[in-house]
Order: sequence, then structure tokens, then C-alpha cells
Amino acid sequence: MTLWIKNANIATMDKARPHAQAAVVIGGFFACVGSEKETEAYLSVHPQEELETIDCGGNFVMSGFNDSHMHYLHYVRAQKTAVDLYGCTSLKEVLSRMRRALEQDYDPSLGLWLTGEGWNHDYFTDEQRFPTAKELDAITTEYPILIMRACFHIGVMNSKAMELMNINKDTVGQYGVYAETYPDGTPNGVIKEGVFDDIKARLPMPGCEQLLEMMIDCQKDLFECGITSIQSDDFKYCPEGHAYEMMALLRTAAEKGRFKLRMAEQALLPTHADMDEFFDKHGFDDSFGNRTFKINCVKLLSDGSLGARTAYMRKPYADDPTTRGIAIYEQEELNSLVLRAHSHNMPAIIHAIGDGAVEMCLNAIENARREMPHLRPRHGIVHCQITDKEQVERFKELDVIAYIQPVFINYDMHIVYDRVGKELGSTSYAWADYIRLGVHAPFGTDCPVESFRPLPGIYCAVTSRDLNGSGPFLPHQILDRETALYCYSAQGAYCTGEENIKGKIKEGMYADFIVLDKDLVSCTDMEILEAKVLRTFVNGKCVYER
Ligand SMILES: [Zn+2]
Ligand SMILES: [Zn+2]
Repeated sequence: MTLWIKNANIATMDKARPHAQAAVVIGGFFACVGSEKETEAYLSVHPQEELETIDCGGNFVMSGFNDSHMHYLHYVRAQKTAVDLYGCTSLKEVLSRMRRALEQDYDPSLGLWLTGEGWNHDYFTDEQRFPTAKELDAITTEYPILIMRACFHIGVMNSKAMELMNINKDTVGQYGVYAETYPDGTPNGVIKEGVFDDIKARLPMPGCEQLLEMMIDCQKDLFECGITSIQSDDFKYCPEGHAYEMMALLRTAAEKGRFKLRMAEQALLPTHADMDEFFDKHGFDDSFGNRTFKINCVKLLSDGSLGARTAYMRKPYADDPTTRGIAIYEQEELNSLVLRAHSHNMPAIIHAIGDGAVEMCLNAIENARREMPHLRPRHGIVHCQITDKEQVERFKELDVIAYIQPVFINYDMHIVYDRVGKELGSTSYAWADYIRLGVHAPFGTDCPVESFRPLPGIYCAVTSRDLNGSGPFLPHQILDRETALYCYSAQGAYCTGEENIKGKIKEGMYADFIVLDKDLVSCTDMEILEAKVLRTFVNGKCVYER
């Protein structure tokens, strides 16, 4: 099948030819991009038997969005199984939404916990604190409950859940600061970081086949927003011990054409034992997969979140001098994990939000590059929110990708100065600085921390305002439209080594593209938020039409 795309306002992301009006797609690749005349001339030299003409009506066309860091399986599971706690403005509302879900939707015969996701006590107007086990027990003590904060680094369990996980007065001590207690020493249900992750991973959950069907079903949600590629961290969200089975199922589903979304797995391997299993036992590396589904890199976590003051800082928090947050690893340990990935020529991408964690990640990458300079994997730091000028420059020196979630400022601009002070706050979220230095800075959302919708992120990147229009937060970090769109498409392809095949509308590249009703380069700022995706194409085939 050949497509002749005409009457289009194409932003190609190709610096040699930024604008075009028409394109020819042959078998999943762009064959010719240019003016209507040029494509016509191309087709007369290369006549096509089956030619479908697509008149874009003058609408805006660009490469599909690439979300460079999200948790697709987590989104899918939340979408299908968890109570939505986003937007709760009080502790009371969290509890009442959970109670309603128990009464109306919860089916205990499935054997799943009653889970909720997305609360954030910073938004509570009654009491700005974490909920407790006692409050959840008032909903039920018969079925286990776990409610997760929007950062996904903190959760609260009821007593039934703690009983099932064997967390009680006698055992809670072994979890240290990661499991909170009441003054009398009994656990209050609040769990953090690694303990939270482990418990999350041990929750009863649907099987791999069921999850695969859900993942296939939810692709349409992303296509509807113009997302054609994602880079996703899912190992922790697979049924325990079944991540490899899940990867194999996804690969097969992609080969059969059932899974169409281009997905690159960011394999979370937080320990050497996990890496043994990945590299040695299963013989995995970044050659696993195909053009649709593949494994791209090793993912690590080095700190927590800013909202919860668990992001690791070099200095104590301005609004809580008793803490600098939590570093997940000692420097030595992080160095050896990054070097291990590096030695397999696989990128390590590391979650780091505080400047202390960013520093440790930069050191670990520097160490790996020094130890084995003959290998050049594309390491990266995910979030890199709190930084000073020298750190941003080290991204360039060490060739580190900055994985940015521009929509994060919608929330962070209201807390960051409280957390870290004005001086450090104003050198943070240094997106334009990365671009000026030539650092690769792909955009994403960390969904389900934020919605995967790309347009709010683009709006934040080009205005430095929150979604209500407050700001600008950091005027010197505002990006121009073309750059923001480039960061959301071509830059993402660089992360997965696909910059020569994906992310631009250019001869020889995958025909993954979208048609929108607004010109994202010239429309007003507000129109960015209102823009609608009209059609989405992956591999030259229409996967969504409004
Ligand atoms: Zn993260
Ligand atoms: Zn994440």
C-alpha cells in the first residue's frame, strides 16, 4: 500500500528541510517528502499500483510523539484495576473515594487488593499529611487496601494488608525509615521507597496473558493523543518473577501485528542479582525484540521525589532542615551497577531528582566512561530536576541524556522554592540550558505520575507556566515551539539508537506521523492545550481517526 499525503502543513523535524506540503509513504516508510509537485514527480518515476491519497485539508502534520519515560504497564493496570485518587483535595475525599469503590466496584472474588492511586497530601485542604492505617481500617479490615501517592514512592496500607505482608510491631523495625510507626511503635501503614516497591511487586495481580490483552487494548488511548512511540519501565509491574515471560509475550504480539505501539523497555534491574538474571541467566541485552517492541536500556533509581522530600539533596531541605532526602545507593554501589550495564554496551538510565542524586549519577557515568572508554552506550538521567550550573555542564562533558518531563513544573513550580530555596531552584529544570549545550533532552511524562497527554507538556515547555497560566516560573528556560516538538519526537528516537529511522518526516524513516487541527508552531499558547489529534499513523497505517 502506498499513501500520497497532500495538502499538508508538515513540520518535518529535518533541519535540512523543516517544512513540506506532501509526502509519499511506501510500505511503512517515507519515500519522498517535499512539495506537491515534487511528490507528483516522484510518483511518475515510481508508479504505484495501489495508491491511496490523503488530503490533509491544510492541517498540521508531524512525526508521532515519543514519550521517553513512562510506565505503560502500570498505567494499564491502574486503568483497569485501581481506584483513581488523582485530584483529591482532601484526606476525606481519598477515604470516601476508596469507600465508594469498595461498595460499588470491588470484586473480592478476583483475589486482588483494593488499591488506589494518585493522592497527594500537598493538595489536601483539610490536613496536609499522609493517611494512616487506622483511617483505612475504617473503610474495611476484611479486605487489604493499599493507596499510593502520586509520586509512587509512598503508600499507605490498612491493617489487613499489613497482616498479609507480615508487617507488625515485631517486624517493622527491620524496614527502618521505610516503614513508619505510631508513637507506640506499631506500624501506621505508611511505607516508602524500596519497601513500597517490594510490596507493590508482591500484590496479587492478573496473569501475563491477561495483562498483555490489557496492554493491547490500551494502545488506543495513546494513539488518540498522537503517541506512536514510548519508552517504558515495566519490570516491577509484571507479575512477580514473570518479567521475562511478559517481554516474550510483547515481542510475539508485536511480531503478529497485535501490538502496534513502538515500545522500548527500560528494564529496571536494581541489584547485581537482577543483572545476573538479565544478562547471564536469560542472555538478554538490547538486541532483544524487533522494530515495534524491544529492550533498550537498564533502568535504576537513585532517589525519591521532591514532593515527599525523599529526593536526595546535597544540602538539607530549606523547609525541613532535618533531612536531605534518601539516596538509594552508596556511590560505590551505583558505580558498579552502571559499569555493569556499560560493560554490556547497554545504556543505564537513572532516576534522579535531587542535586545530590544527580551528582552521584554523573559520577557513576563518569566512572563507567573512564573504565571502559571503548564502549559508548547512551546513558541518561531521568528527571534531573534539581541541578546547578556545573552539573548541567557535566551532562554535556559526559555525554549524558537528560530525560525531561516538562509537565512536572505544573506542580513543582509551586513547591520547589520552599523545598530548595530560590537560588538552587532558579538553576533547576534547566531545559533550555541542556539544549543550548547540545545535550540530548527527550521529553516524556513519567505516566501515570502525570497523564501521558503530550500537549500539556509542550505547553509547559514553551511557556514555563502551570496549566492554569500562572508564571512564568523560569523565563530563561522557555523553549521555542520547534525545539519542544523536536524534543518530543526526534530526541526520543536518539535514546533508543533510532535517530536515523524514526522521529522525523524524511525519506527512509518510519511513517509514524500524526495530523492535528492546530499548527503547533504558530498557534497561540492556549490553542496548544486545545489542539486535537485528527489521525495517527504507525508504520504507514492509520491506527486512530477522530
Ligand atoms: Zn522516576
Ligand atoms: Zn518513572
